[in-house]
Amino acid sequence: MKVRVELDRCIGAGHCVLLAPDVFDQRVDDGVVVLLNDTPAPESHAAVRESAVACPASVIGLTDS
Ligand code: SF4
Repeated sequence: MKVRVELDRCIGAGHCVLLAPDVFDQRVDDGVVVLLNDTPAPESHAAVRESAVACPASVIGLTDS
């Protein structure tokens, strides 16, 4: 799995951080997402897929690799 995030469209809602904290974090100053790992381990895939669905701005893109 490869993860991409459109940073300029992130609204800092934080759903992704709550669901997959090993993959997503947020910048302290403005809450914009920080992608910690763009190739997460298989055990994180379900949480990352949930994050993509839950993201209110639909800015998390996933591709299978
Ligand atoms: S859930 Fe979406 S909008 Fe919210 S911080 Fe994560 S990437 Fe940004």
